[in-house]
Amino acid sequence: MNDKKISIKAPAKINLSLDVLGKRKDGYHEVKMIMTTVDLADRVELTLLEENKITIESTGGFVPLDQRNLAYQAAMLLKETFGVKKGVGIHISKNIPVAAGLAGGSSDAAATLKGLNELWELGLSIDEVAVLGAKIGSDVSFCVYGGTAIATGRGEHIEHIKPPPPCWVLLAKPPIGVSTAEVYRKLDVQNIEHPDIDAMVRAIDTYDYEAVCSQLGNVLETVTLPLYPEVKQIKDQMSRLGADGVLMSGSGPTVFGLFQHESRVNRVYNGLRGFCTEVYAVRLLGEGQDDFKDYNREKL
Ligand code: ATP
Repeated sequence: MNDKKISIKAPAKINLSLDVLGKRKDGYHEVKMIMTTVDLADRVELTLLEENKITIESTGGFVPLDQRNLAYQAAMLLKETFGVKKGVGIHISKNIPVAAGLAGGSSDAAATLKGLNELWELGLSIDEVAVLGAKIGSDVSFCVYGGTAIATGRGEHIEHIKPPPPCWVLLAKPPIGVSTAEVYRKLDVQNIEHPDIDAMVRAIDTYDYEAVCSQLGNVLETVTLPLYPEVKQIKDQMSRLGADGVLMSGSGPTVFGLFQHESRVNRVYNGLRGFCTEVYAVRLLGEGQDDFKDYNREKL
């Protein structure tokens, strides 16, 4: 066995705005979202194997350890597309809550694609990696780049934009898992109030933190909030305790709050801990993947 190894951070994302424009003939929904990465990350470690096989293990979270794992699927896709005869041992240290609306699985898949591009010396550009990523899942392309972007199509068309003004993000996940597919299935696309995505883009572009907070919007709340009242309770609690803006991320159930001041995020973190066991205080990450290299998760 060769001990060539690569270790990559796979950060979570939140949606500052999530709109659904309609249902497509291929069964997917046409979306328009603003996504941004936060510094809560899994770590994906890839070890080159001379033998033609993929092994997968994980610590820290319950994820399938076979071909259902999105990181496994990423390795398999590269193997089949490029006829790779070498193998890989994948180890995922899970920190991102699973089935939480934070794209943990997609980010693991993106990290695996990027790492194997190096380890297997495939010579793909980042855009080529992102296009391949879309075959695994709609959020994978965004996760390949990270940063802040407008995602359209079924989520795989990525237009990079400036990062939002720096702020703290408090993530709170109630102890339930939400199926993204079920939420989309139950969405009444004809009767939704659309968030003003252009206004959010302007707010980000002009670095207007207050406008970012007031323009937060996610049409999937219309499905998840009635199904899971605990999500609404956490939203209300976070607002009451003093978040500048609150929203559910993706299809939920994670709720995030934005804060400009560390003292305030500390206070709300402590206030929520009695109410919800999984709470994380993190920062928004800046532009592009290079920014992921040297950050430390804040421990409060
Ligand atoms: P999104 O925000 O993209 O909808 P999510 O945060 O809601 O994603 P994930 O944590 O990515 O959800 O998990 C969704 C499903 O994918 C779960 O049922 C989980 O078992 C499965 N899964 C497969 N591989 C992984 C992985 N590496 N990490 C987490 N979940 C995975």
